Amino acid sequence: TRPVLEIKNLNVDYGLGDQAVRAVRDVNLTLHRGEVLGLAGESGSGKSTLAYGVTRLLPPPGAISGGSVIYHPPSGEPIDIMALSPAQLRRFRWAETSIVFQGAMNSLNPVHKVSTQLLDVLAAHEPTMSAAARLARARELLKLVGISADRLESYPHQLSGGMRQRVMIGMALALEPQIVIMDEPTTALDVVMQRQILGQLVELRERLGFSVLFITHDLSLLVEFSDRIAIMYGGRIVEEAPAAALYRDSLHPYSEGLLNSFPALRGPRRELSGIPGSPPDLRGMPTGCSFHPRCPKAFDPCGTEIPVLGVPKEGTAVDRTVACWLHPVR
Ligand code: ATP
Ligand code: SF4
Ligand code: MG
Repeated sequence: TRPVLEIKNLNVDYGLGDQAVRAVRDVNLTLHRGEVLGLAGESGSGKSTLAYGVTRLLPPPGAISGGSVIYHPPSGEPIDIMALSPAQLRRFRWAETSIVFQGAMNSLNPVHKVSTQLLDVLAAHEPTMSAAARLARARELLKLVGISADRLESYPHQLSGGMRQRVMIGMALALEPQIVIMDEPTTALDVVMQRQILGQLVELRERLGFSVLFITHDLSLLVEFSDRIAIMYGGRIVEEAPAAALYRDSLHPYSEGLLNSFPALRGPRRELSGIPGSPPDLRGMPTGCSFHPRCPKAFDPCGTEIPVLGVPKEGTAVDRTVACWLHPVR
């Protein structure tokens, strides 16, 4: 399948000069047309920074310090996101890529009805649409995300958290984007809701044909709903594979640790073991493989040499990559 978004050697720093910390390190990631790509990793691994980076929405002091992001529209020439003017970027963000951020459901304006907020998005981006057509479109969007059209007259506080999140997805789909990025909150309480939302997105994706980048700490969700999974650690992608392959046969010890952190995924009723130790401090990244201080399988080269992400020599699969000295790459 063709790529819709290509992230190449992307670096994102917070701060400048010797104060800078690198939160995204040399990330290469491709989102293919029509696929759901899941991005997982512990808190602080750089998932949100990557999402903000590719849409150039990084809050200061965040800044892209290297690499490129290429968008491939359904027809026409590829577009270099880094080269867009602010006006082009605004258009790109709604019309081509929509992003629903962590805690987005709280970003609906409490003093305005759902209808006002949906109609505002349509009015701002489809100025030639008639008022009647906009209203019809707003009703259609709500129905699309499984909310009855009479909810247009509700205020945000009259909706449940799940409904508000679905309204946000409806807004994100308003201009029929090619890419939807969802950055989900990391609280365990929201897992039931995340499940609903992701299930719904996958279904909509089948009908509307957009691509999804879904960010979560919950690998079990991704195993179930996504086509491919990328695992992030300390700002880097350490493994990427089709969801089934990652689940069946993860190669990176960190992926293994994450999979074993979910009792529902591997075997019945076990303690949430997690991974001993804590994520690396960006100000003092370990040398070599940044996972080595926590890795149960660390050996000779791990403490001094950085493993590069690549297709493993072992096996025949060419559609997966890993960055670990246990799996020499081609
Ligand atoms: P979570 O699962 O908690 O959402 P995440 O994977 O999305 O985590 P990020 O929010 O991208 O992680 O953060 C990546 C790293 O960048 C963290 O170490 C964080 O401390 C750092 N960071 C994030 N925002 C800033 C900022 N505004 N200034 C400095 N450092 C930041
Ligand atoms: Fe563990 Fe070494 Fe692989 Fe890093 S490179 S994950 S330390 S075995
Ligand atoms: Mg985040």
